[in-house]
Amino acid sequence: MASQSKSGRWAAELTVALDAVRAASHICREVQAKISADVFEKEDRSPVTVADFASQAAICRLIGDVFPRDPIIGEEESGALRRDENGPFLERVLSELRAAGVNATGEQACDWIDRGCEKKYAPRFWTLDPIDGTKGFLRQEQYAVSLALVIDGRIEVALLGCPNLAAVSQPDSDGATGAIFYATRGGGAWVVPLDDPSAAPQPVHCSHQSNAAEARFCESVESSHTSTSLSSRVADALCMQRPPLRMDSQAKYAIVARGDAEIYMRLPAKYGYKEKIWDHAGGVLVVEEAGGCVSDVEGRPLEFNHGFELLGNRGIVAANRELHAKVIAALDEIYKTFPAPQGPLPAPGWKPS
Ligand code: AMP
Ligand code: MG
Repeated sequence: MASQSKSGRWAAELTVALDAVRAASHICREVQAKISADVFEKEDRSPVTVADFASQAAICRLIGDVFPRDPIIGEEESGALRRDENGPFLERVLSELRAAGVNATGEQACDWIDRGCEKKYAPRFWTLDPIDGTKGFLRQEQYAVSLALVIDGRIEVALLGCPNLAAVSQPDSDGATGAIFYATRGGGAWVVPLDDPSAAPQPVHCSHQSNAAEARFCESVESSHTSTSLSSRVADALCMQRPPLRMDSQAKYAIVARGDAEIYMRLPAKYGYKEKIWDHAGGVLVVEEAGGCVSDVEGRPLEFNHGFELLGNRGIVAANRELHAKVIAALDEIYKTFPAPQGPLPAPGWKPS
């Protein structure tokens, strides 16, 4: 039986990573709660930017203090924040950190953020998306804080903070939202409530649904991030009856990991787009350790040894063991009708000349 967690090979890394993701998730939740209809209507993106910086600062501070030699490949860097004209903005970041119990000068906060601006591959590194799913964050919907430790190109520790996802998916739960999903390689996948650090972690398992007609698939809300026309062709090919579950962020991996959906498809919507490692690393190991499979659209394993992008892969398919190969086979057939030239998969609607 897999150990619950904090013992084992990655105990020190997991302990600090859980603290870091919990702190960052709370910061994001506080900022999201302040987004008013007014801010939303004005399409003011500043809340997400404040939360992005504060989340990255909080996480990189904790990881950097315990593992000062570990590079962190994160999404943000502090360049803009250090400019004089952005002083008031930096103040907002400092104020969110203060509210989370972290007192810092502007210089310190920027230095923490820049602990996470590495972009090159290393034999041991962390990768971080301080807020994945920024559109969901602004819409008061799903977003995630994603953190993973990669050793020799393999994800060994992975965490997803999901402040708007219930820790328990059963309808009879008390409705409390906020969960941290996490996994260590060989140690299983687990979920803990965001607001109760002392709660016993609960194991997370993919569903064993093998009948595609009964299966549920999830995909991005944003049609620029995935081809919904191709996914609906896959759904038709597999006779899937249920409508897609559209959700922002790596919360989709959490949903597959705990069996609320069987399949997550991310099918390239434009030529040449390279997935970013921080958009996946946290979710991939959670699904794998929950008993699922994750690959690119051609069934190849994801390669986390090329720096900040998945240069060797195109798109993503995450699914339970029973259905993963069927999705890849369906995609293979469908892509044959899109005879791609060498290089990236074509966009929907592309016709051979
Ligand atoms: P999601 O919430 O699943 O739609 O994914 C959000 C992530 O999509 C962001 O963090 C971006 O890094 C990433 N993204 C941006 N443009 C694209 C694109 N053209 N294709 C795939 N992902 C993208
Ligand atoms: Mg992201």
